[in-house]
Amino acid sequence: VKRREFIILTGIGATGTTLLSACAHPEDKLIPVLIPDNEYVPGVDYWKASTCGLCDADCGIVVRTREHRANKIEGNPLHPVNRGALCARGQAGLEVLYNPDRITGPMKRVGERGEGRWQSISWDEAIKTLSDKLRETDPASKQVLFLTGDGRGVDARVAERLMEALQQESIISSSFFDRREEDNSYLKSYGGVPGFDLANATLLISFGARFLETWRSPVKYSRAYGEFRSTNGKQRGRFVHVEPRMSLTAADADEWLPAVPGTEGLVALALAQVIVRESTDKLASLEAALEEFSPESTSNDTGIPAENVVRLGRDFANAERPLAIGSLDGVSMPAVGLLNLLVGNLNKKGGVLLAASAKESFDPFKMLAAVDKNGVESKSSFPDAQRLTQLRVLMVHKTNPVYLKRVDITKVPFIASFSSFVDETTVLADLVLPDHSYLERWDARISDSDPNELTLSLSQPVVETQFDTRQTADVLLAVASELGGEASLRLPFKSAKDLVEQASREFRRFTSAGPPVRKGENAAAQEDGWTELLGRGVAVGSSDFKPSQAQPERVTVPEQLLKSQRELMRSKRANPSDQLTLLVYEQASIGDGLWANLPSLQELPDPMTSVVWGTWVEINPKTASSLGISDGDLVELETENGKVRAPAFIYPAIRPEVVAMPLGQGHSGYGRYARNRGSNPALLLPQGGAGSSLQCSIRAKLTKVGGKSELIRFGTELMEHMESKR
Ligand code: SF4
Repeated sequence: VKRREFIILTGIGATGTTLLSACAHPEDKLIPVLIPDNEYVPGVDYWKASTCGLCDADCGIVVRTREHRANKIEGNPLHPVNRGALCARGQAGLEVLYNPDRITGPMKRVGERGEGRWQSISWDEAIKTLSDKLRETDPASKQVLFLTGDGRGVDARVAERLMEALQQESIISSSFFDRREEDNSYLKSYGGVPGFDLANATLLISFGARFLETWRSPVKYSRAYGEFRSTNGKQRGRFVHVEPRMSLTAADADEWLPAVPGTEGLVALALAQVIVRESTDKLASLEAALEEFSPESTSNDTGIPAENVVRLGRDFANAERPLAIGSLDGVSMPAVGLLNLLVGNLNKKGGVLLAASAKESFDPFKMLAAVDKNGVESKSSFPDAQRLTQLRVLMVHKTNPVYLKRVDITKVPFIASFSSFVDETTVLADLVLPDHSYLERWDARISDSDPNELTLSLSQPVVETQFDTRQTADVLLAVASELGGEASLRLPFKSAKDLVEQASREFRRFTSAGPPVRKGENAAAQEDGWTELLGRGVAVGSSDFKPSQAQPERVTVPEQLLKSQRELMRSKRANPSDQLTLLVYEQASIGDGLWANLPSLQELPDPMTSVVWGTWVEINPKTASSLGISDGDLVELETENGKVRAPAFIYPAIRPEVVAMPLGQGHSGYGRYARNRGSNPALLLPQGGAGSSLQCSIRAKLTKVGGKSELIRFGTELMEHMESKR
């Protein structure tokens, strides 16, 4: 009895209670088996469908729970984005839910700012404190800012509405790399944000789009890539990748073109020049515009031999189904769009697939759409230092600007954080209102699946809330009610769940979506398909969403593109530099550092270096030997913005004038798994952000510091490391 070696299963609670009491032992858990709890029968699994919350791709998940505890996440086979597959990050989601470093309830700061001394408070007090602070602000002076890393969910939409009522500003700063610049370039090139039919292409050229790692929707495109490479009744697709270092995606390519960083757009223009100069009369009008970007004249700038570009340009023009994709800065991306337009693959099998404008205009949270845009601004750029000095209240949600953007927010009089963890931003907060994890919350999102379908992905609680946390949308609704006046008038909603239910009804009205109604569902459920959506976790619209865009009659080369690439060549030639270029890139596992607190992702070996739990600097052997650096030596990288130290990793698959570092480590806080591991290359970049593509580059100086540094690699070295620790 003392060791609690038995449980009593009983149909009558009092009997069990009496028995256990008679044993002089308080009962731990009485499990009624005659009338079981909802979803609580010992040894029986329950599966709940929801949506992965670890990146923007919205893969569908099913979570196995047993005895009210989630114990496995799998891909939802019904979801069109991932069709049952899941990446390693998605598999690690339970470590978010059961993370030992989660904040367990609302807190207010009691020590000095940044000292990390907190006092637990009630939700009523937390909501009143935030409401009082908002009440004290002046709308005319724009003293409030809501900063979020997730602009698509119900939380951000409620925040936007609240900011509108207060005539204040909300800013969306998605992550370290701002991917909306890429989306804007699609709007300019194709008139919409497309999908890419990788599976059916026969020749794929990727300009820095690491689709097997972090680009757009990694599981969706990894699956499509599998079909592209298969020889099952078709020709195996050929893949060429352009990037200065060999990433996992580059390693999978048939041909890797290691272009000089920043010149990937020039490579695309040189390919376009080959297509135009060797084309029929139709494209001849573009010849003059592209003449100066021939493979022969750009080869020195890009580092790619002209004959390779000429060969590839011809192959691309003659391929049955050619496709170009890219993740470059806003000025270079139109060059990738131009390649697709030249081969005319818009809305064709294996090409660029555009959604119908009717589908694009659908907003499931129509009830939260701005009533009056005057006074409220939603921006994607990060606020500059000047803007921060105007602030009286800063609210931070699902982003960590102090770590990622190196911004100084210490002068803002009042900071409220909605984080679930004490990260580098939250440690400076005056008030912490911890959010639910993504497995405890409600949400609905329109997901990027087939362009001819509309997909609604549902997030729902898969287990009961673990701690005294609250979904941010619910907190903001309570703040609006506390503030009264315009705020409560504009946010008369009951809860996040209520809003999500309304969104599902909107979706159903807009599409003919939804599975057939089952016998026995109540009238409301029959009408809106809510019960079915809860079961499936996803609804797919079956209305006719035929794309409205077609291949343009006449292809033109954007003048802005020519100007920017001309300027790039001119400045490279005028200022040749013998300095190294540092590339900072995002890892597939811990991303931009948001998931550095998940131990299984820290433990996951980097696919190219097999390093775990750390940061490294990739250096070409030639460069390393010229500086007397060998594997594992501690080196220092210095830019005009700062210095960072990390162990050297001698990496032959990188250009000699380039060094590279992965992002995500070097946290000073963020829990036991993230704290004090590796270093943060964001310290070498300008304050306020990196750029739009999945990697950014900056001039840097590399020196050997002396001594070896700990660099743990999977395999024998990991075993040796563990032995030495023992
Ligand atoms: S790609 Fe991975 S992390 Fe992103 S939603 Fe899908 S499973 Fe989750």
